[in-house]
Amino acid sequence: MNTFRADLHCHTTCSDGSVSPQEIVHLAKQMGLQGLSITDHDTIEAYKSAISVAGSLGIALIPGIEFSAMQDNVSVHILGYSFVLDHPSILQLCEGHKVRRLKRNRIILELLSKNKMPITEQEVLDSLGDDIISVVHTIGRPHIAQAMVKKGYVATVQDAFKEYIGEGRICYASGDSFSVDDTLATIHAAGGLAVVAHPHLMKSDRIINKLMEKPFDGIECYYARLPANQHARWIKLAQKKGLLMTGGSDFHGSIKPNIPLGASWVGEEPFTTLQRHYESHF
Ligand code: AMP
Ligand code: ZN
Ligand code: FE
Ligand code: FE
Repeated sequence: MNTFRADLHCHTTCSDGSVSPQEIVHLAKQMGLQGLSITDHDTIEAYKSAISVAGSLGIALIPGIEFSAMQDNVSVHILGYSFVLDHPSILQLCEGHKVRRLKRNRIILELLSKNKMPITEQEVLDSLGDDIISVVHTIGRPHIAQAMVKKGYVATVQDAFKEYIGEGRICYASGDSFSVDDTLATIHAAGGLAVVAHPHLMKSDRIINKLMEKPFDGIECYYARLPANQHARWIKLAQKKGLLMTGGSDFHGSIKPNIPLGASWVGEEPFTTLQRHYESHF
């Protein structure tokens, strides 16, 4: 019998992934996964088409999302799991992010223009291709980076981040933000569990300590290409605080080509905890 594996962190074409919601479920099956949570940035749109495919392929799919938030001017990603999918509090925050991103993307495009790299909003959309335009709900920096490549301003998406639009670079803008507290309250109001995403990417221990004073339910301890000795640090912290230990690949498809779906995963016990939590709503 196959060992149970579930990837709890991945993105589709509804945000900045390159694989559609239907395809990602097929891919999960191909990769031998039994469980999955799709965690698109600030949208649950993927579930509209993924649920029926998961049902027909026998993949256990639990609701997920990755919200962007800000703590002391530092960007924090918060994973929400096992919430009531179309709960008004979730839908309202997703809508808020849509408005935030529209304004923020305009600021980034203005900064690019000032730096002699003009790109219009329409050019960003055009660079996505017809398949993606019809399903995308969250337009973010990776999409702008792709348009920069297409216009010949940079050679690769990675270069766009490294030189211009990565945090702290000359064309970076954080835009308006939602607080960690409000994001946690939203996830909890929808009956969900809130998890600190990829804590190792946060440069400052001070922020981690602050987050640990807040009502998080879990920490993402397992993450693709994170050395095992670093897993141990987060496992220890989660155990000390009595928090869930989640994990996933953060698969994006071609945007991060070296990270396959299932590159990081959790076993049956944590997945069942999330699944039971979800089922307890009904
Ligand atoms: P945004 O949500 O618009 O701020 O964009 C953040 C997203 O950009 C992340 O979730 C990653 O998917 C992607 N990203 C961040 N840094 C890089 C990078 N250096 N190369 C490629 N993609 C990146
Ligand atoms: Zn992303
Ligand atoms: Fe993230
Ligand atoms: Fe992610």
